Amino acid sequence: MLWRFTVFALIHLLLALLGWWLGGLAGVLGGVIAASVGWFLIDLFRGTRVLIWLRDGSAADAPRMHGLWGEVSDRARRAFRLREQGVRDADARLQEFLAAIQASPIGVVLLDEEGRIEWCNAIGALQFGFETDRDLGQHIGNLVRDPAFTAYFTGGEFDHDITMPGRQSTAKMPVRLSVHLHPYGQGRKLLLSRDVTALEQAEVMRRDFVANVSHEIRTPLTVLAGFVETLRDLPLSGEERARYLELMDRQTQRMQTLVNDLLTLSRLEGSPSPGMTNWLTVTELMHNCEQEGSALSRLLYPPDGQAISFEVLCNCEIAGVRNELISALSNLVSNAVRYTPAGGRIVVTWSAAAGGQAVFSVTDSGPGIAPEHHARLTERFYRVDSSRSRETGGTGLGLAIVKHVAQRHGAQLEIESSPGRGSRFSIVFPASRVRCGAPQGATQAGQLPKVETTSTAFS
Ligand code: ADP
Repeated sequence: MLWRFTVFALIHLLLALLGWWLGGLAGVLGGVIAASVGWFLIDLFRGTRVLIWLRDGSAADAPRMHGLWGEVSDRARRAFRLREQGVRDADARLQEFLAAIQASPIGVVLLDEEGRIEWCNAIGALQFGFETDRDLGQHIGNLVRDPAFTAYFTGGEFDHDITMPGRQSTAKMPVRLSVHLHPYGQGRKLLLSRDVTALEQAEVMRRDFVANVSHEIRTPLTVLAGFVETLRDLPLSGEERARYLELMDRQTQRMQTLVNDLLTLSRLEGSPSPGMTNWLTVTELMHNCEQEGSALSRLLYPPDGQAISFEVLCNCEIAGVRNELISALSNLVSNAVRYTPAGGRIVVTWSAAAGGQAVFSVTDSGPGIAPEHHARLTERFYRVDSSRSRETGGTGLGLAIVKHVAQRHGAQLEIESSPGRGSRFSIVFPASRVRCGAPQGATQAGQLPKVETTSTAFS
């Protein structure tokens, strides 16, 4: 300010001296007036430049000048810069925040006071079937017409969520959404949606599973309770007692088998994938199957059992878990034995297949299975012939275990079967798990009736 005053005074003094030199006392007055008018005009010009820039300029094109107006514009420019930087930072934070909401697996829709869509993320658009270009600004009630949602939205009680079908839901592929509205700000609403299809399916499966297990256990328990009552209340002969105890033993074994199968399934679900370091010889696995299969056949069809043959057609090794593989292979052999009537034929083979794969297959001349059952055979507790299954000690879990073991070893369970023509159950092991030597022996599969096929593969 002092500098400005000094310059102001100097200019006036100089022009007054010039006026005095040119015209005496009147010249002094003229010089002072000229200095004042000049000063005013220059000041007005500089102030106007700053004002114009302040009105619509940005920090980048601030007028460059000295003096008071220079300092005013310089300070204003710095304030502009700070504000622009603040706006840029806030914008970057907003973009990051929106990107995070976009990446969220939850659908997010922002509604204004009237219920019109202000913004939504990609998942929200997908779940409700919005097209962001077209539907922003539309009332949510016009786009989401599910009656449960309409009642929820208009009811105004948002302390709970509701479940409704998603836009992509079809009869074959249902999609269920859990939807929750959260009021915020001045009458605005945040709509959150979550895909709960898998959860609902898991809940249905859990309920079915508990019902099935209870049903399986209740029958032998009821029988056992009846026998216990009989033994306690009735005077029985030694022979009758022995017979009842024998029947009770059969029921406890049934429950034992069921519990063992359930434990096997839960172990399969909970344990890590089989590694590639443990190599098992096919002959040893086949030997196990042979012992168990032949023993079961003799037990069910005494004295000779059925005609069962075991053939190893390739000298292979398989990478996998011994107990799991034995359990899967024996399940297929035991099914063939249990469902094939006396006098029937069963052929169990290990053979090499195209591309280095190895195939374990069990072919029987049993009753066969109609094609409509094939897709469901590996479901837990699914039975085609329930009475035969229970009579022979089946739990309805055998093929579920086989499928699980096959999956864990990267193998496929293939089923070829039709009524009256027998069945062939095969496990096809991937080349990566197979180490093969020279082929062995000749096939005897020609001895069996060729199975007419409808084929289902379970990976
Ligand atoms: P289960 O313990 O009842 O045998 P599985 O899961 O092993 O249960 O088999 C499911 C159903 O598939 C059986 O109940 C049976 O009806 C049918 N099944 C399985 N293997 C054969 C077969 N070799 N021949 C005919 N039916 C079979």
